[in-house]
Amino acid sequence: MKPIYDAWLIQIEITNACNIGCANCTRLVGHHRKPYFMDLDFIEKAIDSLEGFKGGIGIMGGEPTLHPQFEEICKLIQRKGLTHKAGLWTSGYKWNEYKKIIKETFKLGVYFNDHSDPRQRHKPILVAISEVVKDKKLMWKLIDNCWVQETWSPSINPKGGFFCEVAAALDLTFNGPGGYPIEPGWWNKTPEEFRDQVERYCPMCGAALPFTCPSNKEAYDYVLPKNYQRLLKIKSPKALCRRVKIFDRKMSKKEILRVMKNWKPYEYLGGGKRKKDLTLEDVLIIKQIPPLRILEAIIRNPIEAISTSVKYPKDVLNYTVYGIKKKIKRLISFGGKC
Ligand code: SF4
Repeated sequence: MKPIYDAWLIQIEITNACNIGCANCTRLVGHHRKPYFMDLDFIEKAIDSLEGFKGGIGIMGGEPTLHPQFEEICKLIQRKGLTHKAGLWTSGYKWNEYKKIIKETFKLGVYFNDHSDPRQRHKPILVAISEVVKDKKLMWKLIDNCWVQETWSPSINPKGGFFCEVAAALDLTFNGPGGYPIEPGWWNKTPEEFRDQVERYCPMCGAALPFTCPSNKEAYDYVLPKNYQRLLKIKSPKALCRRVKIFDRKMSKKEILRVMKNWKPYEYLGGGKRKKDLTLEDVLIIKQIPPLRILEAIIRNPIEAISTSVKYPKDVLNYTVYGIKKKIKRLISFGGKC
């Protein structure tokens, strides 16, 4: 694992509210009873604590533009003269409203991902490696080489500073003891110095486990029994609505090594299309998206839609009926709460 001070960027996670709700979200969106919105004072403290850090500063969520003080946050970054170091992670949800200030503020980059690509995949975070891999030596080897810690970022959420953004989400979701106090230089830590966090969060996490990643359009998150119990304990809305699938099996060293050969979890975009480019055929591939998307795809590309409907008339009809039935069933079963 690399030291926090060597990370290319540290995220400030200003909210975990999100307008999308992918399966297996790395921030465990859908499992919180109420989203948080970080106080402006705390955001300023977080930014100030990074003085001397040579990497960038990320503003992330959830969907950060859902923060009611998003504009003030941008102005704060501008006032501090940090626009050259600031990046924004967004689904583009409020792009039209904030386009101008986003362009003025986030000079490091705007990392847009509307998560609509039918081939996008999310690594199931709640498939706890400690429950799948019996060989503890192998488990720690996989954890110590975790691709997330290697390529993503440490993070600050309302509970403190963390060596890893996924560890931060696990702490927040499962009422952990919190991260390092947000004080100047908290990030100046070597792997030995943040080992307490590694030992607390990594065994309950699935990111380092070689595993075929499911589409982020699945209707459920994969979880292992212990994490499922943890979800029930916190009364996770997603778990209570049965939008989780229990994955309860062990993987042998042989199987892990086999999966590892073609395992590229960092290719989460799948190199595919964005929402604006989806065709009717793409919509049929995704399956778990709302039937309304069929209409959008038809309007966007009527010629392709006609040719797909001629090719797959049954699929178009079945999917529309299936989607509507599913929605009605869910509304009846859960009183409109899911
Ligand atoms: S195993 Fe999970 S918590 Fe640990 S470094 Fe990787 S992503 Fe972070």
